[in-house]
Amino acid sequence: MEKIRMATPLVEMDGDEMTRVLWKRIKEELLCPFVELNTEYYDLGLPHRDETRDQVTIDAAEANKKYGVSVKCATITPNAQRVEEYKLHEMYKSPNGTIRAILDGTVFRTPILIDSVRPAVRNWKKPITIARHAYGDIYKAAELRVPGPGRAELLFTGADGREVRQAIYDFECPGVLQGSFNKDTSIASFARSCFNFALAQKQDLWFSAKDTISKQYDHTFKDIFAEIYEAEYKVRFEQAGIEYFYTLIDDAVARVIRSEGGFIWACKNYDGDVMSDMVSTAFGSLAMMTSVLVSPNGCYEYEAAHGTVTRHYYKYLKGEETSTNPMATIFAWTGALAKRGELDGNAALVRFAHTLEAACLKTLDGGVMTKDLCGLCEGVTPTPVSSDGFLAAVRKNLEAMLQKTA
Ligand code: NAP
Ligand code: MG
Repeated sequence: MEKIRMATPLVEMDGDEMTRVLWKRIKEELLCPFVELNTEYYDLGLPHRDETRDQVTIDAAEANKKYGVSVKCATITPNAQRVEEYKLHEMYKSPNGTIRAILDGTVFRTPILIDSVRPAVRNWKKPITIARHAYGDIYKAAELRVPGPGRAELLFTGADGREVRQAIYDFECPGVLQGSFNKDTSIASFARSCFNFALAQKQDLWFSAKDTISKQYDHTFKDIFAEIYEAEYKVRFEQAGIEYFYTLIDDAVARVIRSEGGFIWACKNYDGDVMSDMVSTAFGSLAMMTSVLVSPNGCYEYEAAHGTVTRHYYKYLKGEETSTNPMATIFAWTGALAKRGELDGNAALVRFAHTLEAACLKTLDGGVMTKDLCGLCEGVTPTPVSSDGFLAAVRKNLEAMLQKTA
């Protein structure tokens, strides 16, 4: 069979530890035999980030801007212990944070569903994607412990020196204070990323906040979403047969639980933090959660939602066989290849990506799975395999499926 060619390079960002090991194996076993991989390679592994003083992360993000699609391996976010372990020159920032700041994007997390792992919510039949606005609110708030009686006020001093003041509370005893903010530009980017992603997925978009209580703050989110939707997206949503609506966060929670899934739920920063953990846990496993960063002007960066699986990597270094689940990393590749194919009009590449996903699902439906899934599955007798054993089983199914469609 002739290998599939790619016209435009895919930006490839390599990473760390166990996922770096899997990254190489996935390419060798499932990609390179079938695709003439055309990637622009950036090594975001911690040693190379340190050698370049993190310039490689910036270069990779700029390349993503240039080409539009990238695939990223999980990377270590250094802390004090990592600085020591890798003898780093600095405690570099999270690569994901750096890339997100450059692309100004929103992260969408979607679970991979299989028949044998049933969601905790029995009526969920399709994945629910959470879009979290990863900027501002309590994550960048100023906080104060109020020592005792006194008056708290909001004070804004304009660039022209004009002051706006508003009373918060007259304290009669000690208490707490918090000042949080967001920016219209960031909210608008968030809204556009969500609308673009909904169109790309052909799925309904829900957005929830608490505008009945927060009449300025949350209401501004609601208004910016509504203005952008009306002006730029309404017609396209109608053409695509999908819907956008806003609802109160408490109503959204009730509707999500009663739904059968299959939509995108856009959340403010804190709501997204909490709800993404709830939804991903209810769907089964972090190892089955994919993630894509979408910029407001339509750049895509695909990755797994989990980290570098350090605990497994230390076992691997000791020569022990590991049973790390490569599903989310494989799906990062298939997501990126399918998007690259779609943008380039490369139908063969899109078809390959979807066939590889189907081969993975077929392998799992047959009960061949890594250990993390064995304890969760119902209705099949699982055959626990190593990471390599899983990749080999997927390859066998993939070859058979490609032969059938050839
Ligand atoms: P983690 O790598 O997600 O792993 C936490 C635990 O979850 C693992 O020990 C394992 O549990 C289970 N797990 C996660 N992915 C799995 C998979 N594919 N297959 C099987 N089990 C899986 O999180 P962490 O240990 O907190 O973080 C490790 C490093 O990753 C840190 O340096 C952190 O900075 C980095 N990180 C990177 C990203 C990213 O690049 N997007 C995201 C998060 C964390 P058991 O050990 O019980 O088997
Ligand atoms: Mg969280």
